[in-house]
Amino acid sequence: MKTRLAVGAFLFCLTRSAVAAEAEATSLALPNHLSSFNRIRVAVVQNGDEVTLSANGAYRVESLPDRSLLDRGLRLGEMKVRPSFQGIRFGAKDFRFPKISILSDSGSIRVNNKIYSSGVQIFRKSRGRLLVVNEVEAETYLKGVLPSEMPPRWPKEALKAQAVASRTFALFKALSKKNEDYMVAGDVIGQVYGGHGAEHSATDRLIDETRGEILTYQGQIFPAYFHSTCAGQTTHAEYNWDIQPHPALQGVNCFFCLRSKYQRWGKEVQINDLERRLKNAGYQVGAISRISPGKWDASGRAREIEVRHSKGTLTLRGNDFRLAVGPHVVRSLKDLRVARSGSSMKFAGRGWGHGVGMCQWGAKALAEQGKTYREILEFYYPGATITRIR
Ligand SMILES: [Zn+2]
Repeated sequence: MKTRLAVGAFLFCLTRSAVAAEAEATSLALPNHLSSFNRIRVAVVQNGDEVTLSANGAYRVESLPDRSLLDRGLRLGEMKVRPSFQGIRFGAKDFRFPKISILSDSGSIRVNNKIYSSGVQIFRKSRGRLLVVNEVEAETYLKGVLPSEMPPRWPKEALKAQAVASRTFALFKALSKKNEDYMVAGDVIGQVYGGHGAEHSATDRLIDETRGEILTYQGQIFPAYFHSTCAGQTTHAEYNWDIQPHPALQGVNCFFCLRSKYQRWGKEVQINDLERRLKNAGYQVGAISRISPGKWDASGRAREIEVRHSKGTLTLRGNDFRLAVGPHVVRSLKDLRVARSGSSMKFAGRGWGHGVGMCQWGAKALAEQGKTYREILEFYYPGATITRIR
């Protein structure tokens, strides 16, 4: 197993320097045993100023990574955690450590009104922002993801396809980000993770039925992206992120999501609100006069967005613009139109999401037509097969 991993890493370095300096690998060798990546670190709060925390039973606070005991008690009533000058402020106490772990004997902790099992870790990051991470067993994590990513009343085969795609995506991240503070983001950027409170018995059963099943391409795991509605065609992964092209993530024609309620969307946003959002995301912009989508891909998505403003012109990758402005504002880049209307901009387009990998509304329609989860996955990830890891 070690040799396989080492060869994979070597090839990865070669292709990485040959293709593009910053392009991340999209193919990783599989460990032989599930236990080598069965815990997932999920970022449940990012860039937080303040976090509200509580636990029902006895709790313990430890410093990281040395695990020295900082505090303990029989019950943790609702309290605030804030970054402090030297570390982390925990209610009235100030711990001079940038990383702490909070463990509850009852096995669950409430963070900003969501319940998480197995405790949380809190990091004081740069600019005094808090990162809260929940480390959880992979299958438990999936039970918190599935009902948040797809309604539990949807057809069983669509839900099973989602379970396998979500497991593949999570385990790919667990392998590629194993040395980082967290592996996946618990929101739409990663996978929507509702925590322990979101689990649902119907979807829990489907996670168990597909236990250990992941997608592979020529024996290697890849990031099995998915999204809500493609509106006719999915697209290439490498157009959205700095990653290497992958044969299973090159786009397919999907005529199955026509009944999605997200086929068409429109949104009007105040220009000063757009300026604020772009600045918050780290882009230098003055007063915006015009926003032009361009460099259309074969699926009809804008690969670039040009923002003309009082200090110059900013050209952004389409997906970076969408995420900076907000994926609920610019739902998709497909057939994106932008028009100025007084002090606001009107956005309109088709579909919802980045458009890579499985289209969830398409998967729903295919399941209603009698397709199995295997057929659905083979359609959206051409050339991929289902492998069971133990
Ligand atoms: Zn579709």
